[in-house]
Amino acid sequence: MNITKTSDSIELSSPFFNSLCDKCFFSSEWLTFTICTYFTFQTVFWLYNLFLIYIEFNDIPSIDKYRIQKHKAKLRFQPEIIRQMKEGTIKHQLSLILTLPLLYYLLSYFGHISVRSSIPSLLTITYQIILFILGEDFLFYWTHYLFHTPWLYKHIHKKHHIFKQPTGVVFVLADPWESLLQNQVAVWLVPIVIKEKHLFTICLWIFIRVYQTINAHSGYDLPYISPQYYFPWLLSGTLQHDYHHQYAKMNYGSFLTLWDRLMNTHKIKRDN
Ligand SMILES: [Zn+2]
Ligand SMILES: [Zn+2]
Repeated sequence: MNITKTSDSIELSSPFFNSLCDKCFFSSEWLTFTICTYFTFQTVFWLYNLFLIYIEFNDIPSIDKYRIQKHKAKLRFQPEIIRQMKEGTIKHQLSLILTLPLLYYLLSYFGHISVRSSIPSLLTITYQIILFILGEDFLFYWTHYLFHTPWLYKHIHKKHHIFKQPTGVVFVLADPWESLLQNQVAVWLVPIVIKEKHLFTICLWIFIRVYQTINAHSGYDLPYISPQYYFPWLLSGTLQHDYHHQYAKMNYGSFLTLWDRLMNTHKIKRDN
């Protein structure tokens, strides 16, 4: 751990992020933030989706038994699915390139984003991630609930519901208004208003949010790698969101079953 003497304080710095910033990113904290967040997103996005593509094309009985919509044939990525996914992925990648560099300034607006300082304590990381999840889940539930009112569904949210049998990459299919409210405002509002945040916590939050949404759209209720496997009563997940795509109703929450249970919109069903 390095000790950096600033004009009025002594700050402990993280050797990893410090040397990354100085050696690779021209000592620019903004560039370090942008590249690290981008890299985190890409890692989880591609690794998880490539795994899902692999299991779609390879019949592995020990994995196929966890497929949720067994009454339908496997997706096998028909040309129309590939076309929609290519288009959605390109648009989503472009939106990332435009929004991640701005995120640094948004996170700095009400507080401070630390890049060089030492990684926060486990307690700080945990309570901040819990606040991020509670805030995101509340905003996601209510915007999603409203998107299912007839006019908003027809003109905005229907695009996300093209596939009744979802797979991981389907989460990128969304109208720009939906992306803005659910993938940006809902995800970033609490991190923006919290005063002190660290690049490490932000990267962890990106990892958790992207992993959660790919998992929810995966079409497989896989044990061990699904968080809801450990806390099925508390956490929403694949069974809930798969039902939501099949019937275009119920299960509007993202992380938690809390709002769905309170509003009587919680429902799951599985093929035997
Ligand atoms: Zn969805
Ligand atoms: Zn929906």
